[in-house]
Amino acid sequence: MSDTKQQVWVFIEQREGKPADVSFELLSKGRKLAESLRGELKAVVIGHDLQDLAVETFHYGATEALLVDHPELEHYSTLPYSRIMSQLVDEHRPRIVLFGASFIGRDLAPRVASHTRSGLTADCTDLQISDVTYLRKDYPELLLQIRPAFGGNIIATIICPDSEVQMATVREGVMEKIPLDRPVEGQVTQVAYTPEEVDHLVRIIERHHEDAKVNLKAAPIIVSGGYGMGNFQNFQILYELAHAIGGEVAGTRAAVDAGFIDHARQVGQTGVTVRPKLYIACGISGAIQHRAGMSDSNKIIAINDDPEAPIFSVCHYGIVGDVMAVIPMLIDAYKHKLK
Ligand code: FAD
Repeated sequence: MSDTKQQVWVFIEQREGKPADVSFELLSKGRKLAESLRGELKAVVIGHDLQDLAVETFHYGATEALLVDHPELEHYSTLPYSRIMSQLVDEHRPRIVLFGASFIGRDLAPRVASHTRSGLTADCTDLQISDVTYLRKDYPELLLQIRPAFGGNIIATIICPDSEVQMATVREGVMEKIPLDRPVEGQVTQVAYTPEEVDHLVRIIERHHEDAKVNLKAAPIIVSGGYGMGNFQNFQILYELAHAIGGEVAGTRAAVDAGFIDHARQVGQTGVTVRPKLYIACGISGAIQHRAGMSDSNKIIAINDDPEAPIFSVCHYGIVGDVMAVIPMLIDAYKHKLK
């Protein structure tokens, strides 16, 4: 095994053997971090019957997958998973460990960080390697953990100079998933799991599936509405526009709070992060917390009656006007003139 201080690890999250997108997004980011560290990227795969998943991580640059495979680990459970992960981190002391900021990652990462006395920053929106070495000569090359702070009013760069192991969680969709043209010739290393009594303190009695109502992340076009839509009735016109151009409807937190749209469709820091081909922002001011979830969209069109609205500084095309005048014109143009 190479110098463990230069390893970047990614916890590969899965449900019923199906990997979470965020894990591959983190591998893609982890590959860049490992390059900056001149180190190695490794995946940690815990579950049952996951040899194929372990091999899939090589398509995203992992050079080794640590595979902990046991029938009792088929479904995520806090105690065995955190015990296994903590033991692995204690044994190998990787420099960086990344988790998805999902229900599982948010449960697992703090336990592992606390057990292994590592630094952890939740919900990072970017990760970089710093070459500042004057803080601690024994732990050079710090992980810059970048995320909005103080209610989103600043973008903070957080470092853990006293921690040998630095951990971060990142929400799904924030990093880009970049598969390699050709997979790395990686190695799957089986790690033995011996169940302990403590692992059975919590038992899963029944599992209940509820299909997600909407998958904004996968939508190539998103028509998003803000408080400037005025009321619930006006907001419905966004569904008409979305239907005409084949998109999904989303909204800001102010629109959710006003009852215009369901929280599952909220875009932003405390909602979903999206990067569609086209994002049409209607009556949205462009607060930093909203931009955190949409500014990486390929093309952004903003409609706002205030020419000074911050959304105009991130959009590619801006229309200054009343949403209830502009949107019907767009629908009409698409339905009758552009088709
Ligand atoms: P407003 O800021 O009220 O903007 C409405 C806009 O509509 C204005 O620019 C106005 O000029 C325009 N307008 C009004 N009437 C018309 C009209 N007739 N035609 C055209 N334009 C019109 N927000 C999110 O969106 N997502 C998040 O995940 C999120 N998380 C947050 C987390 C924290 C910790 C905090 C503190 C805040 C968060 N927010 C989030 C809230 C965020 O700060 C803003 O309050 C919110 O994004 C504003 O939504 P808005 O743009 O719809 O409303």
